[in-house]
Amino acid sequence: MSAEPFLPFALPEIGEEEIAEVVDTLRSGWITTGPKARRFEAAFVDYLGGPGTGLHAIAVNSATAGLHLALEALGIGPGDEVVTTTHTFTATAEVVRYLGADVVLVDIDPATLCIDPAAVEAAITPRTKAIVPVHYGGLAADMPRLLDIAARHGLKVVEDAAHALPATVGGALVGTLASDATVFSFYANKTITTGEGGMLVTRDAELARRARVMRLHGMSRDAFDRFTAKVPSWYYEIVAPGFKYNLTDIAAALGLHQLRRADAFQQRRAAIARRYGELLQGLPLRLPPQAPPGERHAWHLYPVRLADDAPLPRDAVIERLFEAGIGCSVHYIPLHLQPYWRDRYGLVPEQFPHSQRFYERTLSLPIYTRMSDADVQRVAQALHRILG
Ligand SMILES: *Cc1c(COP(=O)(O)O)cnc(C)c1O
Repeated sequence: MSAEPFLPFALPEIGEEEIAEVVDTLRSGWITTGPKARRFEAAFVDYLGGPGTGLHAIAVNSATAGLHLALEALGIGPGDEVVTTTHTFTATAEVVRYLGADVVLVDIDPATLCIDPAAVEAAITPRTKAIVPVHYGGLAADMPRLLDIAARHGLKVVEDAAHALPATVGGALVGTLASDATVFSFYANKTITTGEGGMLVTRDAELARRARVMRLHGMSRDAFDRFTAKVPSWYYEIVAPGFKYNLTDIAAALGLHQLRRADAFQQRRAAIARRYGELLQGLPLRLPPQAPPGERHAWHLYPVRLADDAPLPRDAVIERLFEAGIGCSVHYIPLHLQPYWRDRYGLVPEQFPHSQRFYERTLSLPIYTRMSDADVQRVAQALHRILG
């Protein structure tokens, strides 16, 4: 075992400002959804370019909730198919099943590790209604091609941007692209965090209206508004069996300050990625794909793939790193290997050769803002000892 303290795979960076804002919320008497959640939504729109963008931001208690609300508002239901990548977390796909629609999983492009647009196009049937790309690890998927496919086939696009704050495509932030909706995650290990939380972003005013109603029990005051100038504060109507997906002001208090630090956090993550790139030279490893010149990579993950001539299999490398006091992980066990998805759709690894091979040979190294330069060096040195 290592004498050094354990280096976790991920840690949130929560500062004194976040803590003071949470305390202020607790003292305010308003701890559920209220003024801070509304401020967080407005700040998020500002971050993406301001009200002039026409964007609506809807704060939710998880990205899973946001994906569910987006697909519900787009009318996805039984008999429909939604195409997404097998190389993701189950949340991306499970929301499709909540709605009674079917998931069509496709392989990744090994150059980006994101959904392969050619595989998407090949998977389209008369039942296909939507595409859900995942910006794996913080590198944007090939959105120009995916949006073109969607336009030609009349499909909706909902981006799973859980890893992608702040990543860019054509110089534009993910969240401002021409998709129908984009969903960010503020889970504990994501690039900014509210503990649990997410943000649904859309330019579609009708989608936004529906998502706001369904976020809180299907409750609406709009019907009353139409007939009366003054709505009593106690009045509401239930227009649908909605969900309980609202973000608390306690969580939004964290988000307000985390969002202000998003660019600085990204710069630190990018610096760590650059340092890994230098320090891991000469090892039997394939390093993760870089963003194209001029684009921003959010660097949520730093997955390294063992070369065929690596001296140890992936699981042994992870075990040796843990023995050296270094946490690492695997992103992801592809959905086609998970019993539910495999059995429901009769999936076999041969249908997803790129994802399968990547999964078998890859581990994710720690990459987070609280890592010091010495921590990064320690990970690299351990890998040199293990693989050199
Ligand atoms: C974390 C994650 C989610 C779910 O985010 P929550 O906020 O935990 O619901 C969805 N998709 C991907 C790719 C994720 O990594």
